Parts: sequence; C-alpha cells; structure tokens
Amino acid sequence: MSRIITHEKLKQIVDTLIADGKIVAGPVAAPGSRFFFRTLTKPDQLVLDPSVMPTNSVKEFFFPQHETICKYRYEGKELIVSDSEPFAADQFVFGARPCDAASLPILDKVFAWDYQDRFYQKRRENSTVITLACRQADENCFCTSVGLAPDTQAGADAMLLQIDAETFEVRTFTDKGNTLFDHQTTPSDKTGQTAAPPDVRFDSKNVEKYLTEHFNDSVFDETSMRCVSCGACTYLCPTCHCFDIVDEGGAAKGNRVKNWDTCQVSLFTLHASGHNPRANQSARQRNRIQHKFCIYPGKFGLILCTGCGNCTRDCSASLGVRPLLELLDKKSR
Ligand code: SF4
Ligand code: SF4
Repeated sequence: MSRIITHEKLKQIVDTLIADGKIVAGPVAAPGSRFFFRTLTKPDQLVLDPSVMPTNSVKEFFFPQHETICKYRYEGKELIVSDSEPFAADQFVFGARPCDAASLPILDKVFAWDYQDRFYQKRRENSTVITLACRQADENCFCTSVGLAPDTQAGADAMLLQIDAETFEVRTFTDKGNTLFDHQTTPSDKTGQTAAPPDVRFDSKNVEKYLTEHFNDSVFDETSMRCVSCGACTYLCPTCHCFDIVDEGGAAKGNRVKNWDTCQVSLFTLHASGHNPRANQSARQRNRIQHKFCIYPGKFGLILCTGCGNCTRDCSASLGVRPLLELLDKKSR
C-alpha cells in the first residue's frame, strides 16, 4: 500500500509553512522557459513537474553564494571582532531532483573534515529536503554512471513520485520527512512513476585509475580549447564548493565574507608573486576532473559528482565533465 497526496494538498502545506515564517524553496518559472530554485513567497510559484530540470542547484540553500562569517570594527586603536551567527530558520526545499539532493551527503564530508563549517551544518540540520523523482532523463544525464538512479534516496527526507498531473506518491525516509507528511497523505494502491535509468556512459573506477596514472594526459589540452573559462559549470554544479574569504568594508569596519569561487578562472590559483601553478585552461579542466573523480574519492570514498548534467547542459561550449569522462574511459581500455 502506498501513500498519496494531491497537488492541492501540497500547496496547502507550502502555504502553511510560509505563513508560519519558514523558508520554503522550490523550482520557479523564469523568463526563457527556464526554471530556478528560489525562495517562494506564495505556493502557486512552486513548479512540481518531474520533467523540469532547474538551471541551478539546491546547494544554494546550504552553501549560499555570499555569507558573512564575522564582523570587525575599530574602537580607537582596539579591533573588535564579532562572530556572525549561522542562519537558523527552518527551511523546506521542495522539488529537488534526486541527483541534486544526492550532493548533500557528499558535501557533508568536506564541510565536517578538517574544519567544522557550522554555517553549512546548521542549514543542513534545519532543512527538510523533498525530492521529485525524475520522469525523463535527457542526453546530459548520467546518474547511473556514478552509482545513482532517477529515484535515488540520498540526501532526501521525502520523495514525491508523480502518478498523474494532480497526484503524487509520497515516500518518507527520515523523521523530518515523516513529520512533514504526518496525517497529510491517504493510503492508495497506486504508485508513482520514474524515468527509465539513463545508459551508463563510463566506468568511474576505470576513470579513477586512469587519472591516477596519467596526470598529464593530452585529453585536457584538446578539450579545453573550447572552454571560455566562464565558471558556469562550477556555479551550477551541486557538488562544487570552492569559496574565497574576503573582507568587505573599510579600514574602520566591515564584514568578513565567504563568497563562491571557481577553479575555472586563472585568478583562483594566482600567487602574489605572479606565478600561477594552473596557468592555462587545460590545467584548470584537469584539476576539476582530478578533484571530482580521483582526489575526492581517494579522500572520502565518494565521487564528487552526481551525474546531473548541469555542467554540460548550460555550458556555452557544450563541454562539462561528461564528454571528458567518456574520452578518458575510452583511453583507459
Ligand atoms: S567548461 Fe563550459 S561552463 Fe565550464 S568554464 Fe568552460 S566554458 Fe564555462
Ligand atoms: S560535475 Fe557536472 S554532472 Fe557532476 S554534479 Fe557537477 S554539474 Fe552535475
């Protein structure tokens, strides 16, 4: 026996959460037939369509583009530094793609590694993630190549699976998911639909081994000629998590902030001396692939990629990681 919920009932839940002062996020329609994860101000903004592939990732609700970590000011000659408190509001993220939510347990590792990032951790503790199982994969999807699937549970507190335009099956995986949907569903013998899993495009173990043994492979020289170093692939990636810490303000007072950064631009590794250890785009592309498919698995036992395809779908050069991984896999055989 499954549990089902109507679209109307889901909108009522969202309405109540917003009225209670909770942060509620989900896919919202944008100009140009695009969809972005945004904070909702009313339930009608939420687009719960499993064929929609939002441009950005839900990581923004856990690791925002810009966050103040402390404030400083001078009183006379004395420097006063005060910590900023982490964002503490309860938040609910609806309609995340399973491959997007699957990034969260992967990111948990790095944000609780040598340094406990309480800003990220507090948002994780206070958030409930409700995924929407995919109904169709496009040519850029490769979740199955990294061990995931269109109904992967990783990172989700609950999952919605579309039965028809007005009805969803509800599956809950955690106490947070149970609490949200307690007394909101009705029993049914209907079950939701998921997309046929996309074909496996490469063997990630082969790729990892090949990367370990071929650091200077020419594949990066050839493919990086197309890359314009815009960084879009990293900003839209659910698992990319580089940031820079800078002081914004004046000499007398200001904020120390954490801003997203990207390994795809030359300034990322430029030393004060003028030396740049990743002096060209080939080295920067290599770093991205090495980090995701060799270094992170070696350190944490997890691939730093969920196969969402965002990096290819929105790359103006149609690059992203998948074409490179397919080439590396071919070369490894
Ligand atoms: S791979 Fe594509 S999205 Fe990424 S930096 Fe290069 S051009 Fe931009
Ligand atoms: S590297 Fe590309 S496919 Fe992998 S998680 Fe990031 S955006 Fe998605």
